[in-house]
Parts: sequence; C-alpha cells; structure tokens
Amino acid sequence: MDLEGARKRAVLRGLEAGGALSPPAAAIVGTRAFRSRWVVAACVTLLGFSVVCGLYRSPPALPLITAAVYSGSLRHQLLAGDGWVWQRQQRTGDDEKLQRRQQQRLIDDGLPQQRRQQPPVDGDVASNGFSGVPPRDKYLGGLLAAGFDERSCLSRYYSGVYRKPSPYKPSRYLVQKLRTYEERHRRCAPHTAAYNRTLPFLKAGASVPEEEVECKYALWTPWSGLGNRILTLASTFLYALLTDRVLLIDPGKDMPGLFCEPFRDTTWLLPPGFPISDFEAFYRSHPQSYANLLKSEKISNDGARGKAPPPFVYIHLGDDYQTEDMYFFCEKDQAVLRKVPWLFLRSDLYFVPGLFLNQEFEPELSRMFPEKETVFHHLGRYLFHPTNKVWGMITTYYRAYMAAAGERLGIQIRVFSAEDSPFELVSEQVINCTLKEKLLPEVDGDASIIDSMTDDPKMTKTVLITSLHSGYAEKVKDMYWEHPAAGGVVVSVHQPTHEERQQTDDAGHDAKAWAEMNLLSLADVLVTSAWSTFGYVAQGLGGIRPWVLFRAVKGVMPDPICEREASLEPCYHAPTTYVCREKKDGDNGNVVHFITRCRDATSGIKLVDRR
Ligand code: GDP
Repeated sequence: MDLEGARKRAVLRGLEAGGALSPPAAAIVGTRAFRSRWVVAACVTLLGFSVVCGLYRSPPALPLITAAVYSGSLRHQLLAGDGWVWQRQQRTGDDEKLQRRQQQRLIDDGLPQQRRQQPPVDGDVASNGFSGVPPRDKYLGGLLAAGFDERSCLSRYYSGVYRKPSPYKPSRYLVQKLRTYEERHRRCAPHTAAYNRTLPFLKAGASVPEEEVECKYALWTPWSGLGNRILTLASTFLYALLTDRVLLIDPGKDMPGLFCEPFRDTTWLLPPGFPISDFEAFYRSHPQSYANLLKSEKISNDGARGKAPPPFVYIHLGDDYQTEDMYFFCEKDQAVLRKVPWLFLRSDLYFVPGLFLNQEFEPELSRMFPEKETVFHHLGRYLFHPTNKVWGMITTYYRAYMAAAGERLGIQIRVFSAEDSPFELVSEQVINCTLKEKLLPEVDGDASIIDSMTDDPKMTKTVLITSLHSGYAEKVKDMYWEHPAAGGVVVSVHQPTHEERQQTDDAGHDAKAWAEMNLLSLADVLVTSAWSTFGYVAQGLGGIRPWVLFRAVKGVMPDPICEREASLEPCYHAPTTYVCREKKDGDNGNVVHFITRCRDATSGIKLVDRR
C-alpha cells in the first residue's frame, strides 16, 4: 500500500474541506519529523495519563521503541539528548527501587544492617550504625512505646536491625501494663505536683495518711557489678509494675552514661537534691529496714493489731538477708507495705522468682508472662537501651568483626577464683565444651590448607570471646592455626577487651562491659559461665538458651564440663528460704511447678516453662 500517497490525499481532502492548515503547516504535516513528534507527543500524553491514574508500573518501553522505530532521526535525538537523560533517570529510579527491595529482603532475612547498605547520614550518627531503614519490628511487638526521639537513643528502635527477631512475643496484657505504667510515671515523676505532694513523707516524724497516697515509689540504687545492677533494676521495675509504684533510680556514678531513659517524656533519675543522698548507708542492720522495723515493733504484719507503718521503709534484699527481710515476699507483708509511699529496695539478686512465689502476685504475673522464662527477656529489651556512645562501640565492633560471618558464636568466660579455675583448665574446658557440643568445628589434621580454601561466606564462623583476662582467644586461634578446621570452615576469633580486673563505677570500664554484654547478645549461639550475671544479661537480651560452663572447684575439671540451659531466665542465686504458704523456712525450689533449682548455681532457683 502507498502510505505516502494516501496521507497526501487525506491532507488534500482536509484542505478541500476548508481546513485551516496554512501552507507551511501543511508542509510540516507532511514531513517525517512532524510524524515522529506526533507519535512521541501521543506516547507522552498516554504516559502522563497512566501516571495520573496510578496505572504506571514499568518504564514505558513501548512508546519509546515505537518512536525510535518510527523515526530514525528522532531515535538519534532520544538516545543522544534529553531522551537519554530521561532513560537514565528512569533506570536510576529502578535501581534505587530494586536496591530498596533487596534491602528489605535482607531485613526480612534478619541479616545485619551494615551488609544491607552504607549508612547515609552524618558522621556521628552513621558511626552508630543508623541507616534510616528501621527494622521490621521496630517496637518489638508493642513492647516499646512509639514517639521517642530516635536520634537521641539510636539503640532503642534500631537494635532490631542487628539482633535477630525474638521468637517470644510480649503478651497484650504486658503491653497494656507498660503503657499504663508509663502514664503513671509521667504523672508522678520528679517535680510534678503529685511528686511534690509525696516528698514531705520523707521528713522525720511524718506518718502515713489514712487515705492511699496518689503516687507511691520504689527506689533503686546501684549495687555490685553491672550484670547484677541490670538484673536488680529489672526486678525492682517488675515489683513497681505489680504494685502500682513508680520506679526512680539513684544515678550512681555512671547510669545515665550507659542507659537511655526508658520512659517517654519523663525521667527515671532521682533529681539532685533528693532528700536521701547516702544510699550506701542502708544495709542489713539499718533501723529502717523492714526486718528491723518488725523486730523493734515499729511496724506490724499482724493485720488485727496492725499499727500504721512509717512512710519510708528500706527493703534489704542482699544475699545476706535475714528471715524477716524475706517476709517481703509474703502476702500479708505486702498488704502492710502497700500503704507505704516510699520503699527503697536494695539488692544484688535477681529476685523475680521470689515475686512469683507470692500467691497474690502470681496470677497477675502469669497474665503478663504466659511464657515464664521470658520475664527478663522482655523487661530487659524494654528497659535497657545503650546510649549512643555505647551503641557506637557495639555497632562499630560488630561491623568490623562479626557482621560478615556465616555464624557467630559468643563465649563469655568469667573466672571467680583463679585458684579454683586456673587459666589452663578453663581454656581446656572452653575448647572441650565447644568441640563436644559441635559449636566449633574439629581441626582436620589430615587436610591441607589448599583443600579447605573457600570463598563461601556461609563457611565462616566468628567467635567472640569476652573475658576480663587475655589469652583465651589465643588458645582458640592457635587451635586453627596449624591445621584447618574440618569441613573447610574458616574460624576467626576476637576478644574486644581484657580489662584484667573489675573496675565497676569507672565509666569507661562499665561502658565496655555493657557493650560486650550486647555484643554477646547479638551472637547466634552462646556459651556462658556458671553463676555470672554478666552472662545472664547477654542470654536474656539475645533470647538465647546458652551452653553453660560449670564451675571448677579446686582446679578439678567439672563433670559435665558444660550443659545446655533449660531456660532463658537468670538464676536467683540466694533465694528466700522462708516459705510463706508454710509459714516456716524451707525449700522454695519445690513449691511451684514453674520454679526449679538452677543447674549452674544449685542453691539458686529460676523460672522455667519446661523442666
Ligand atoms: P558477674 O560478677 O559475673 O555476676 O557479673 P557483673 O557484671 O555483675 O560483675 C562483673 C564485672 O566485672 C562486670 O560488670 C565488668 O565490670 C567486669 N567484667 C567481668 N567480665 C567481663 C568481661 O568479659 N568483659 C568486660 N569488659 N568486663 C567484665
């Protein structure tokens, strides 16, 4: 068919019909360039229409191709000029979308953030691993409240980028209790009107009013090492949740440098000038302790003849507590303490299992924690967010030494007595345990290094060792130095610090300890040391049931050397020995089915879901 002739005829028909085409216009209509532009204009209009209607999905390849085929000159223009730019922008947009999709897939796979993308924002924040891409479960199943300023505490919403998603979900009831608590905390925080009305009860000679006070408080002060502090703080917070109190903490030397504020738009720190400043003065023998108040008959736990309690009571829950201090866990004693506006709890123990022994608390606790072994796991993730400084240490180390590995094994070595647990014995114990439990690969004496070379990142294993002492990492490294690991696994071993001795209250030392607890919690598999609250914090935050290295006695290798923990929960090392329901001393390890003896510290008890 003569297309050219047909078009000319159509144009002439238009002219004959009185069309307004001027001769030059008619000349343009007849050119190839005009036809090409017409086709492009139609395509652009079509594209614009699809965008407006939300129909656009893929690059409009068809109009482009059509235009390119239809006009050779325009094809040149498209590829060399604006069209090329347009195409290039289109491709860049697609690349970004693809990259975003890939990043999301990596997040969904639970891979660490730094393998997903380079942090794009300013240096300070970037060094903390902030990428702007939040983890899928930013609020940890509702555990965390929304609305915090993200940059003031990056770890709060972004630790989920590094940490595996928890298989344990907080109950709706716990979430509801936490939101109610936060409201109460804001209402009763230092310097509020309600707080100012409660302060006078701390004055000498003050007495408890008839009607219940508006705000009641549970005070906490740091005692012992950082692991102990974290566990006692979580225990005190749970007590505050249960008894409608507000938790306020003595900042000590470095608490604000380690932990972000956990409650939005308020503070948990006792303000400067608080009437009690010397918290150290409170001890077992203090006359204001609950036990001593009972003994001196200044307080009575006998409902019938009860006298009004004083408005400030010290609760001594140290591992040296006496039977009367242990009454704290009993129902009738709680009824007395309920009226006291100011309770100061001082403890070096994870006393949560003791609260479960109370028959009035237990139903409430079971509603909050249907999975009993998740108490510290949830409370720890709710309360303890490393400050940006510590988060920077964690993320920097993680990216440098742990992120790229196919698997991460954390080993926490805590030596309480060098005499009982000499270096050689502990090294042997660590190596034997990890080999026996197949946490580390055997060395292959016969394989040559060439046979075992691999580029497969899945075949790499990073071992993170934390200890106050150096030497353990070298022992493991040496093992894989001369002979390759069986199966071609490449093992790298790292120990962030070896501080040599405990220096609690030194800000730099505590920051390292807190960073290392977190790094351990980012591992896939954990080995921890018996009795150590440092290890309990790591396992609880990570939601990992560890293999526990049992304690050696007098230099004799323990048998078994290690064992898999039955529960995520920390051990309550020196539990109350007063059995409230029997009104006598006894064994609280056998009273209820969800509490059992700890395997790593047999005098202790812990919460379990399965025995
Ligand atoms: P526990 O004594 O093992 O129950 O743990 P704590 O954390 O309560 O007290 C031990 C303290 O010693 C820690 O808080 C640190 O100050 C220090 N420490 C013990 N082990 C380590 C370790 O592996 N790394 C670091 N950085 N410090 C440690």
